[in-house]
Amino acid sequence: MTCPHRRRIGDNYGMTCEDCGQVLEGYGYWGQSHTCLHVWAEYEGGKECLYCGAWVGTGEDLTAQEVDELLCDLSNGEPACTLS
Ligand SMILES: [Zn+2]
Ligand SMILES: [Zn+2]
Repeated sequence: MTCPHRRRIGDNYGMTCEDCGQVLEGYGYWGQSHTCLHVWAEYEGGKECLYCGAWVGTGEDLTAQEVDELLCDLSNGEPACTLS
């Protein structure tokens, strides 16, 4: 059975489902995951991930798939984003 993720808890690291423990956004609650599930906020000149702060400018030629594969590692305390 698939969890409907009804009970979500989140902070500025991300959001997690309280029932199944799956990370739903960003690094999950309390930064439980080391890779960011990006949530993009669109701006005039590009978009920025709400959680890791990764920035993709409209001039930068990243395909939608590449953007999804942008890995932001939090294991050193600060997000370090690289293309996988
Ligand atoms: Zn769930
Ligand atoms: Zn992110």
